[in-house]
Amino acid sequence: MRRRFEPLWDAAADLLWGASCPGCGRPCARLCPDCRRAIWAERPAPRRRLVCPGLPLWSAGLYAGPLAAVIVAAKEDGRAELCRVLGQRLAGAVLALGAELGGPFDRPGLSLVPVPSAVAAVRRRGFDFGLALARRAADELVRAGLPARVRPVLRPLRAVADQADLDAVGRRANLDRAWRARPTGLNGLCLLLDDIVTTGASLAEARRALGAAGQVVLGAATVAATADR
Ligand SMILES: [Zn+2]
Repeated sequence: MRRRFEPLWDAAADLLWGASCPGCGRPCARLCPDCRRAIWAERPAPRRRLVCPGLPLWSAGLYAGPLAAVIVAAKEDGRAELCRVLGQRLAGAVLALGAELGGPFDRPGLSLVPVPSAVAAVRRRGFDFGLALARRAADELVRAGLPARVRPVLRPLRAVADQADLDAVGRRANLDRAWRARPTGLNGLCLLLDDIVTTGASLAEARRALGAAGQVVLGAATVAATADR
């Protein structure tokens, strides 16, 4: 019954508040069914040509279409329902990574470490998107019976430029020894979580910082990966 009135509700929401689907921009009070389907259409896949030699990396989808648009919308306004769907997809990538690794959740003390957001971005947005996403993913994993714990232990040592403005070489130089890990609450084994992987410079620096703190990074999972180049 409710479904019959949804188009009417969407039209009213558009008229009253200018509401649009964050995936495609069509008038809709929320993520439209087509975009929801598109976001769930891809299976998590390993991204081997990207980055970090020796670091298993799985992403839920390619950074394109509605998935990319929803990541941007969730990042900039933190809408709870968008963070939830992205967290669900990130949890799927973690499970696929876990299958490749032979069930890392069986090991005691495995921690999910979010790649830190830039301090300026957190200040501008009023919330830490990477941390919110990791917590949503952990909620999903706990619901699936897996003891996942989020440990935001990476801290910036210095200011860095926006990675989006840099090429692959510039990205590595920008983040070289930029973070340190505070190993409180960690127990030796970690998985890295991030929203998007492009060149992998962030994952490489996160792994270095955690390694310097005596932690082993087993792998990484992201919601999206830019297309292999
Ligand atoms: Zn849409």
